[in-house]
Amino acid sequence: MQHTLLQSHLPALSDMSTPFPHLFAPLDLGFTTLPNRLLMGSMHTGLEDQRDLSRLAAYFAARARGGVGLMVTGGIAPNRRGWLAPFSAKMTTTTEARRHRVVTDAVHAEGGKIAMQILHAGRYAMHPMLVAPSPLRAPISPFRPWEMSPRLIRETIRDFGRAAALAREAGYDGVEIMGSEGYLINQFIVPRTNKRTDEWGGSPENRFRFPLEVLRSVRQQAGDDFIVIFRLSMLDLVDDGSTWEEVVALAQAVEQAGANLLNTGIGWHEARIPTIATLVPRGAYAWVTARLRGAVRLPLIATNRINTPEKAEDILASGQADMVSLARPFLADPNFARKAREDRAAEINTCIACNQACLDRIFANKEASCLVNPRACRETLFPPSLPKPQHAGRRIAVVGAGPAGLSCAAELGEMGFEVHLFEASHELGGQFNLAKRIPGKEEFAETIRYFDVRLQKAGVQVHFGRYIDAEDLIAGAFETVVLATGVVPRRPAIPGIEHPCVLSYVDALRGTHSVGQRVAIVGAGGIGFDVAAFLTVPPYSDTMDYLREWGVDPTYVARGGLGTPMLVSTDRQVWLLQRTKGKMGARMGKTTGWAHRLALKNRGVQFWSGVEYQRIDDDGLHLIVNGQPQTLAVDNVIICAGQEPLRDLQLPLEAAGLHVYCIGGAHVAAELDAERAIEEGLRTAIALGQAAI
Ligand code: FAD
Ligand code: NAP
Ligand code: SF4
Repeated sequence: MQHTLLQSHLPALSDMSTPFPHLFAPLDLGFTTLPNRLLMGSMHTGLEDQRDLSRLAAYFAARARGGVGLMVTGGIAPNRRGWLAPFSAKMTTTTEARRHRVVTDAVHAEGGKIAMQILHAGRYAMHPMLVAPSPLRAPISPFRPWEMSPRLIRETIRDFGRAAALAREAGYDGVEIMGSEGYLINQFIVPRTNKRTDEWGGSPENRFRFPLEVLRSVRQQAGDDFIVIFRLSMLDLVDDGSTWEEVVALAQAVEQAGANLLNTGIGWHEARIPTIATLVPRGAYAWVTARLRGAVRLPLIATNRINTPEKAEDILASGQADMVSLARPFLADPNFARKAREDRAAEINTCIACNQACLDRIFANKEASCLVNPRACRETLFPPSLPKPQHAGRRIAVVGAGPAGLSCAAELGEMGFEVHLFEASHELGGQFNLAKRIPGKEEFAETIRYFDVRLQKAGVQVHFGRYIDAEDLIAGAFETVVLATGVVPRRPAIPGIEHPCVLSYVDALRGTHSVGQRVAIVGAGGIGFDVAAFLTVPPYSDTMDYLREWGVDPTYVARGGLGTPMLVSTDRQVWLLQRTKGKMGARMGKTTGWAHRLALKNRGVQFWSGVEYQRIDDDGLHLIVNGQPQTLAVDNVIICAGQEPLRDLQLPLEAAGLHVYCIGGAHVAAELDAERAIEEGLRTAIALGQAAI
């Protein structure tokens, strides 16, 4: 099988009208040309598992309209055993292929290109029919897989080919073969999970046989003029993963076997190194892709934590890769590409890598969305712009410029209302101004920048520097007031809470009070964890700093690129406390909570759960732990015990006959997060818009 040879994938740099000429240089694949170097990487959203794919179609159509060069769907299984979970998406029949037409037609109508990812979950499957090269349970799975017989291996290879042919029939422009992140193909490649002694295991040649046969089957079934991306695990980050020499050898074999593009896979799902969380520096893994340059002629795609056009351009301009894959950033902003191209990068809604509304939801078996963009995956529910109400001249006051108020004010302004946004402090952002001070959460500043630009464009009038009261609003002749006044930190009724050593998390994070060397933190929710990080974790000075701390070895001395994590010493002694027994931070996100816990443990933070607070005095914090009285002789006790809503304006305003809407923390403080705050802002704006039509 001969695949079309590439002329050259060096950017022509013909388009100097954009500030990102490398990003917007076309990529010629021989039989087709991609308009730019932006790949929307595969992301499972939950929409692909639905019978009716019209919502998936609307989701991809919005991103195609936004100008991305090529998109890849979430993983679609080539057979039932390869399902991620029971009844998740598969491509095995012409009926299924026909159902995907709505997706490919919608994308093509917008001038876009889309490839279907073929993913066999192998031992990561969450159902009892799971199979793997060897019967070894994954540390993150409750199920032990069945060992694949040689016959089943052959059938599975054919199933990959059939899925590719059906993808073509469904109108896809190509497929991506998922060979990384620890899924079935990756399980064949490395000795960690492949203990076979037949022709499918043992030597590298035998371990590579399955991925290469899969690729040949795909190419043969789908034809030459069809994009085939191979996602190769270039850095496994698990014991007994690939050596660098094996990565190179397999990449060269993949090129020979007819792939068009080589995408980078970083880290298995079971790896204990965070690779996409917000604490990971931007572009921290581009060096991995760059290492392969020169070894193959295939265009190489760099991935992981590339969330701005500046970073993407930098990676391409410095020659580290030929294309960049961004996944979550396209959830956050479907128009990322268009805004970058038109020199409107400041308008991009930047993905802050929180994982809260995307990956964490998927792991909880819910549909994905995006914390900073509640429209993501709900394109049919929330249209991109809201209709202009007929009585749009009406004045609306929004009080509070935290995430809830910002979201609501921006939407209302764009709908044509006369919006006045009142903020007591001198800056937009509310609690995000505290969040952005946490080492590794600096990205939160981007959300504030995004809303700032949006408010200016929408003509929202912002009034800073004064706590607005009910009289102001009544005198201002506002008919409608949106209260987005947020929360006040809870002050638990611990005897001695008035002691001068007691600080709130606001005092500690704002730096208005200095914090001593020995600190007890009361409350181990997200904010308690963040305060512990603030007190013990220095921000990374560069990518190497992060790689060293987590034990990533760029020299690949050991298989899988695993090195020894470097313990970072801290002079501070910190105790993180909660009353509930059991795991600390249990409500934190599934995909990031473990990393927060590990980072703090590495810095010697003590986790005490099941404590009873007795009192605070000059000797410190007195508590009962496991039935025994203890005294923590600390310099400070920092209270992170949740919040109460702040909505003291509601009653007087309602009494004066104004329409009052409470959103975000002002509505309900319990279990408040920014996702809910921003979504409530949008929903309230829609309700007000509909009322004004
Ligand atoms: P707020 O952000 O509290 O904003 C309310 C605003 O109203 C404030 O700016 C206040 O000054 C203003 N205001 C109040 N009264 C008046 C008045 N009378 N007149 C004028 N202005 C007034 N959430 C997450 O989802 N993920 C995270 O990782 C995360 N990390 C966090 C880390 C820290 C350190 C903190 C403190 C919070 C974090 N949060 C996180 C929580 C998130 O910031 C809140 O859920 C969110 O800010 C709530 O938004 P809001 O708009 O309801 O209220
Ligand atoms: P939280 O998650 O509700 O945690 C509050 C903590 O205080 C709990 O550990 C609770 O544990 C303790 N507590 C509650 N009442 C108490 C009392 N009366 N006395 C002593 N302790 C008490 O709230 P938060 O940490 O303030 O965070 C606020 C919101 O911000 C959360 O909803 C969270 O989603 C969001 N946030 C998220 C992240 C993130 O990384 N995803 C980071 C920061 C904030 P016990 O009752 O067991 O003692
Ligand atoms: Fe990015 Fe967070 Fe949105 Fe996911 S939820 S796309 S990580 S901003």
